[in-house]
Amino acid sequence: MKVQFIGADRTVTGSMHKLTINGKNYLLDCGLFQGKRKEAYDINRNFPFFNPKDIDYLILSHAHIDHCGNIPNLVKNGFNGPIYCTSATKDLAKIMLKDSAHIQVKDVEYVNKKRAKQGKKLFEPLYDEKDANLVYPLMRDIEYHKEVSINDDVTLQFFDAGHILGSSIIFLKVNENGKIINFAFSGDLGRPNLPLLKDPEAIPDTDYFICESTYGGRFHEKIEGSEAKLTEVIKKAIQQKGKIIVPAFSVGRTQELVYSIHKIFENKLTNRIPIYVDSPLSTNATEIFREHPECFDDETVNFIKKYNDPFGFNQLTYITDVEDSKRLNDLPGPMMIISASGMAETGRILHHLANNIENSKNIILMVGYCAENTLGKKLIDKESEVKIFGEEFKVKAEVITMNSFSAHADSNELIDYTSKLNKDKMKNIFLVHGDYDQQLKYSARLKISGFKNISIPSRGEVFEI
Ligand SMILES: [Zn+2]
Ligand SMILES: [Zn+2]
Repeated sequence: MKVQFIGADRTVTGSMHKLTINGKNYLLDCGLFQGKRKEAYDINRNFPFFNPKDIDYLILSHAHIDHCGNIPNLVKNGFNGPIYCTSATKDLAKIMLKDSAHIQVKDVEYVNKKRAKQGKKLFEPLYDEKDANLVYPLMRDIEYHKEVSINDDVTLQFFDAGHILGSSIIFLKVNENGKIINFAFSGDLGRPNLPLLKDPEAIPDTDYFICESTYGGRFHEKIEGSEAKLTEVIKKAIQQKGKIIVPAFSVGRTQELVYSIHKIFENKLTNRIPIYVDSPLSTNATEIFREHPECFDDETVNFIKKYNDPFGFNQLTYITDVEDSKRLNDLPGPMMIISASGMAETGRILHHLANNIENSKNIILMVGYCAENTLGKKLIDKESEVKIFGEEFKVKAEVITMNSFSAHADSNELIDYTSKLNKDKMKNIFLVHGDYDQQLKYSARLKISGFKNISIPSRGEVFEI
């Protein structure tokens, strides 16, 4: 048995790992690498370490684009095997890939406009909606905990990773000519007590563990304080009659926010204000959340018994129509507008920011991770002027940052999770999905907690098992 590390190695995006067992190839995730346009284009377009035709099975941990976003390209290049994932991941991946295809097409259109003027050869999009549509018939959903024999060599089981709806830890029992090897991949590991989701589940003893390390050396604010902080922000907006503008990821963060606000209102911690979720993708994703109550934690299940719909309440409006979105400009505060994208790079949020950023009565609430060089990061860094649609804007609205909603385990939570694994059985832990400095810190802590072998693979590295 061999494992090759292909993506999210010493970096956080493009999750992809390949297992070879008795001559058959298994891909764990097939994520999109996100970074500078030229580099990303090259890495995503070509699969330099294998031919997609030679991959027999794909096992998908969850529906985030950095884990599933390159599947249409894999299929376009000849992969034709089954794709195993949970039921919620299957449903979410559908809307995520459709949206991603749209972005791919738009992105290339933009680049090609420039290239056409320069008389250069035009690019093809990485994939389009037609390609994405070929992915869905290959997807096979498997319930959490159910052991499924993929073939005579490998049994697959999903455990809840508590990261986003449908997210899983992949657990494999490999029978290599009579020798049994347990092999696990954390996917992205969530945190205890996140709104809506179950806590990350323990897995059986394993010989090998590929573990994410996004926040291997960093610490989050406590989740428990997030509702109190959110309440304060709403009270402030009421007092100032201002608007709260929230850039939020459509899948996950938006639903967590809506549910948290619903709880705040039901518990009468503050007066109600109108809440608008202004994004077609968020609206569609919310429908999928409603269809998968099997993923909810006990608190949410009890909430539903009492109040019915966690994602619907008096004063909450979902907006898909562009004209309705524009009308929000003319409405007076207080109100909250939750819109995508989460890093404030594209989408309707840009219009809301442009319209509201120069008014000191307003609040910009940052609730998610923002990569370097994004507008979201500039706002978090409290830059006094930012560019939106190529124009300069003075940041007069107050920017408030909350990182307590993070869907990734922080350093302590990673150690808490991993230290419950059987140290005597563990032969090697491979760290992926993290910047190198975070991985070094995490690795040092794992050694202190008693693990002997920890590897930080580089891209393309192969390990014989
Ligand atoms: Zn993720
Ligand atoms: Zn990820």
